[in-house]
Amino acid sequence: MEKIPEIKNEKEILLKELQKKVLFAMENSLDLELMQLKYILNKDDKEISDMIKKATITVETISEFRLILKILARSDEEIQDILAHENAHANKTETLGVEHLGYNIIIIKKGDDYLFQPFSEKCTPEEWSEEKKKEAAIQIVLAPEEYGNKLSSGDIEELKNLWKI
Ligand SMILES: [Zn+2]
Repeated sequence: MEKIPEIKNEKEILLKELQKKVLFAMENSLDLELMQLKYILNKDDKEISDMIKKATITVETISEFRLILKILARSDEEIQDILAHENAHANKTETLGVEHLGYNIIIIKKGDDYLFQPFSEKCTPEEWSEEKKKEAAIQIVLAPEEYGNKLSSGDIEELKNLWKI
């Protein structure tokens, strides 16, 4: 008699999907030196944004984000720290009336090592003035400090860029 296929529960299916996402991003991870070179040459290049997209894992919810970090074999302590940090950005984003679009991790290859850079995506209302958009962006970047977490090197870079405008 033929065996009835086992019906997988939702969590297993979700985990499989997330594992696929991680694998795809790792296979397409960005080479750090190549990226730095390309970025210096032309930072608005479409080829670069496509490469970044392929090397980025994107999920909508914080619970999916937690699973991604587990798949990436981060320690529990590190996971708590990353979640608190990204959650601070996300909370501030929503408090200010900016739409939070999800959580991302970009995978960068440096020699034989992989580096993981988490970031969140947001959408500021079109009708806001440039001044208001900038003010919100600064508050969102600074949010982790307000919640007792520290700013990442990416946050500090972003702040420098925002202050330049
Ligand atoms: Zn940050």
